[in-house]
Amino acid sequence: MSGASLLADVKGRIAEAARAAGRAPGDITLVAVSKTNGADKVQELIDAGQRVFGENRVQEAQEKFPALKARHPDLELHLIGPLQTNKARDAVALFDVIQSVDRDKLAASLAKEMEKAGRQLACFIQVNTGEEPQKAGVLPADLDAFVATCRDTYKLKVVGLMCIPPVDEEPALHFALLAKMAARNGLPQVSMGMSADYETAVRLGATHVRVGSALFGARPPLHA
Ligand SMILES: *Cc1c(COP(=O)(O)O)cnc(C)c1O
Repeated sequence: MSGASLLADVKGRIAEAARAAGRAPGDITLVAVSKTNGADKVQELIDAGQRVFGENRVQEAQEKFPALKARHPDLELHLIGPLQTNKARDAVALFDVIQSVDRDKLAASLAKEMEKAGRQLACFIQVNTGEEPQKAGVLPADLDAFVATCRDTYKLKVVGLMCIPPVDEEPALHFALLAKMAARNGLPQVSMGMSADYETAVRLGATHVRVGSALFGARPPLHA
């Protein structure tokens, strides 16, 4: 299938899941996760009307997106992967939204670099809903305090929460938990759901779904 028809299929499924949940399809943003795919594949989706993309590594995004953004100034690029503080400046220069804010030191670096660059990027706090030791994200018990610190101490523009549920668990439980934590903190946006479960995420309140392989085809296992 072409990029355009895969895109139409995913958008149709999002709209259907939204309507089934009594939500407006326009309230859900599809973030096309282009990691490991070349600029040519990204361009195909841009030509089909897609404008919001996600990358999980700063360096890979730097190789692809400056030229694409120069051609299409209305592109919106989301960082969805772990960010090291020494890459904060590069991330602030290239990305429009940071979905992976997950620790104090990173929040401080981002705030400093945004101030220097005169750019206020929207931020999501990543939550480790499964409390997995190897996974990034704030633990649920620490979330409310961390949101307050990001807002009050660092003046970050916190718009929502993001999670990546454990692979071997029912994602719906994690999605429901994330939506509840966002509501509790007065955060309007919730980024959850990937290729395998984005329709479930939409039913449970996702405002952003991050879809890669369903749009671009399967990635080589190394990058899964
Ligand atoms: C790769 C990735 C996705 C997309 O995964 P698919 O299963 O290919 O849709 C979503 N979110 C994050 C954080 C990712 O790293």
